[in-house]
Amino acid sequence: MRIDLHTHSSASDGTDSPAAVVALAVGAGLDVVALTDHDTTAGWEPAAAARPESLTLIRGAEFSTHVVTAGRRRSVHLLGYLFDPADPAIVAEQARLVDERLQRGLRIVENMVSAGVPITAEQVLDFAAGAPVGRPHIGRALVQAGLVATVTEAFDTYLAGGGPYYVPKDDTELTLAVEMIAAAGGASVVAHPWGRSQRSVLDEARFRELKERGLSGIEVDHPDHGPNERDELRAMATRLHLLVTGSSDYHGTNKVLRLGQETTDPGMFAELVAVTSGVHPLGPGECRTT
Ligand code: AMP
Ligand code: ZN
Repeated sequence: MRIDLHTHSSASDGTDSPAAVVALAVGAGLDVVALTDHDTTAGWEPAAAARPESLTLIRGAEFSTHVVTAGRRRSVHLLGYLFDPADPAIVAEQARLVDERLQRGLRIVENMVSAGVPITAEQVLDFAAGAPVGRPHIGRALVQAGLVATVTEAFDTYLAGGGPYYVPKDDTELTLAVEMIAAAGGASVVAHPWGRSQRSVLDEARFRELKERGLSGIEVDHPDHGPNERDELRAMATRLHLLVTGSSDYHGTNKVLRLGQETTDPGMFAELVAVTSGVHPLGPGECRTT
């Protein structure tokens, strides 16, 4: 069984529609795919409606969160699975974050325009097309303006955290997000915890505390992790009795990643689903779409 638990559609900053993601998942040989758009569940219904019969769809989201270490706020992404999308705390926090993303995206664009970078807010909002605004939408405007060849190149030059135009977002505190997902019947997994050198931000003591607050797992097999990071994270997950997942973090053409590039062990997947009670997996033989 091939299981990819982290993908993005055009409901956030991926380039394929939710319906295309589920169709492409089957083409990529997947049996299970999780749709985990940033701070929104807007892709759940179109993905469920388009789900090919043979595919199991796990409805999820990637929550924008932060931790404070050494007096500095650091961004952490938290995957939530099979939570109740109508949970009032989640609805309110996602609405706040969607607005936060819009204001922050416009401020990044303003910084660029003031420095003479020839892009416009309209261009970026067109690429977002109603989805929560993310830096990849700004990256596509930079590509369209001919300033960079790819969105990845835009991240290396214009969009990097700490770069000249960067503006942070006011993300949810990580522990509160873990508790919020658990209270809504979902399972939570820290996404790519040691991608982009966050080792000191999320150490074993922090994971132990998160586990006590309801964290279910760690995304270990992710394209941003090298072999040493994977080995150390896997050993830590075993010590702390946390589940281990693997996923591609597919974004369509916004990133050079393939659906199913990394996968999750079926036993781990079964344990993850077992702790949830918000919504159920939509699988073969399942006619319901909600
Ligand atoms: P934001 O949510 O606006 O802070 O932007 C983060 C998003 O940009 C996430 O979906 C990341 O996967 C994506 N991202 C980060 N670095 C890169 C990169 N080098 N190339 C393409 N996408 C990236
Ligand atoms: Zn992601």
